[in-house]
Amino acid sequence: MTYNAPLKDMLFLVAEWIGLEKIRGLRGHEDLDRDTVEAVLNEAAKFCVNELLPINREGDEIGAVLKDDAVVTPPGFKEAYDRFVEGGWAGLDAAPEHGGQGLPKLLQYLVEEMLAACNLSFKLYPELTRGAYHLIDAFGADEIRERYLPRMVDGTWSGTMCLTEPQSGTDLGLLTTKAVARDDGAYAITGSKIFITSGDHDLTDNIIHMVLARIEGAPDGVRGISLFLVPRSIVNEDGSLGERNGVTTGSIEHKMGIRASSTCALNFDEATGFLIGEVNQGLNAMFRMMNMERITVGIQGLGLAEIAYQNALAYAQDRLQSRAPGERPDPDAPADPIIYQPEIRRKLLRIRSQIEGARALAVYTGFLVDVLDRSDDAIMRDEAGGSIALLTPVIKSFLSDLGVSCTLAAQQVFGGHGYIREHGMEQLVRDARITQIYEGTNEVQAVDLVTRKLTADSGSIVKRQLDYWDKFFETHEEPAAILEPAAGALANLKLATNSLQGSLESNRAHALGAATEYQRLFGLAIIGCIWADIVVSINDRDGDFYETKRMLARFYMEQVLPEAASLTEVIVGGADALAEFPVDYLT
Ligand SMILES: Cc1cc2nc3c(=O)[nH]c(=O)nc-3n(C[C@H](O)[C@H](O)[C@H](O)COP(=O)(O)OP(=O)(O)OC[C@H]3O[C@@H](n4cnc5c(N)ncnc54)[C@H](O)[C@@H]3O)c2cc1C
Repeated sequence: MTYNAPLKDMLFLVAEWIGLEKIRGLRGHEDLDRDTVEAVLNEAAKFCVNELLPINREGDEIGAVLKDDAVVTPPGFKEAYDRFVEGGWAGLDAAPEHGGQGLPKLLQYLVEEMLAACNLSFKLYPELTRGAYHLIDAFGADEIRERYLPRMVDGTWSGTMCLTEPQSGTDLGLLTTKAVARDDGAYAITGSKIFITSGDHDLTDNIIHMVLARIEGAPDGVRGISLFLVPRSIVNEDGSLGERNGVTTGSIEHKMGIRASSTCALNFDEATGFLIGEVNQGLNAMFRMMNMERITVGIQGLGLAEIAYQNALAYAQDRLQSRAPGERPDPDAPADPIIYQPEIRRKLLRIRSQIEGARALAVYTGFLVDVLDRSDDAIMRDEAGGSIALLTPVIKSFLSDLGVSCTLAAQQVFGGHGYIREHGMEQLVRDARITQIYEGTNEVQAVDLVTRKLTADSGSIVKRQLDYWDKFFETHEEPAAILEPAAGALANLKLATNSLQGSLESNRAHALGAATEYQRLFGLAIIGCIWADIVVSINDRDGDFYETKRMLARFYMEQVLPEAASLTEVIVGGADALAEFPVDYLT
């Protein structure tokens, strides 16, 4: 398995498509220059290729294991983690006052794509720390922030998110872990959490669990949930580590993929916990972390799709089978490389045209997060916040679906050689699958998009997004082969949006029945618009890189985007057959 980070595309998106001047207009990024962007991306690529890719296969084979009640990570993980920390990668986008580098989110997202491509299991250990860091930073009291954040930014402590319980998965209103107030202001936390990523491991001195629990007497359902910080080891006032807290690892899961990532059942037995944010407002606070993670999970899919593409491309260039249709590259050879078969080329182009569009969507969203965090313009911040909320379920679900469909297509390019372990393609398929499930399943993302995001601010947020693209197509018409299909998909998206907004009021079951189709339509159409914008932005610039962009955009319009029309038909046509089918008749 090999990987060459797509640095040229990444640099193009940041420095040319979004544009460095726009990023420099944000507080704290005034001095960001092309050299810094290039250096960060280059160094990240080197780290991922040299340190993480070589331990990915063995990590999958050996997996994380539970020995004497403690999780041991596979060989090389501890050394790689130490180098990750030494390189400052743990605090790339964290605030400088906590020891972070304060770099833009859009760079963070690109680094995350490389980490996911080279070793998704490894990536998950620091990933949850980053989420927990931002959660504590947003809602923690000053004393807590001072005590915990610097050690999370420098990577000596890691973080988790503890939501899921055996009876409470998607529906967090069912969780029963309880919190009892103690005289010293802390809480005693008791309950069992399952499926906790990085819940235990040997990479850091301490693990900071962010736990949802119910304070005695709190209302039922999601209104009675509070958020607690529960360290694995108690942190003394001077910052040193004290006794072990009442958190133990019951077991770890044996999984289809990401086998080197530890997925733990944790038992909390009157563990000391500190309230974060307001009583009974825990789920709202936790959404800060969950929303960040949702974007990151989409980017995981993107990274896996990219490495699968690169390896499938190399294989297709080498593998000699069958004769090329039309003119043969070497008429004397017994067979030609399979890349000459249109079926294989189409698979590769489908993957690449979707990946490059999806990467642009991720970078654009990263820029919106930077605007939200650092713009001095209140209207821009407000609009960015709305767009991020709208795009988050789309990125989570569309990009993770892409991770699975692209790794599968790339595996298919290898024929039987992709099914056996030798080339590593089957691991990519297995690793990608979880991205559709955790951090809110893709069905739940689709339902969130339709029921909450389409109605947010009385529908004005989605309207603003669609109006923006409408205006774009009013002012740009050329090249028609690219802009016309994109504008057509946008028109379909508007039609489907109006239809679902109507049915949310008149026939909610209909709207829910079309949610997954709608989220796919949304992703396809928005990426179509983004491709159109990219092509307009590069205008008639010469060179292979720009010419490839134009041809990929055309391929996307001709071979990928037409699905938008059939999805629209399904959405607008109604879900009567689905709604009227009696549940009993399924048996
Ligand atoms: C490897 C791994 C790592 C994980 N890491 C973490 C972690 O770090 N922290 C943590 O707290 N949890 C974690 N999870 C848990 C994960 O987030 C849940 O598995 C997921 O949210 C789904 O919950 P569930 O498994 O109970 O499925 P259920 O909620 O039982 O859902 C079953 C099916 O019903 C569907 N469904 C349920 N409700 C709806 C609805 N309203 N509309 C439409 N469809 C619906 C779901 O989409 C799914 O297809 C992890 C899970 C795994 C496997």
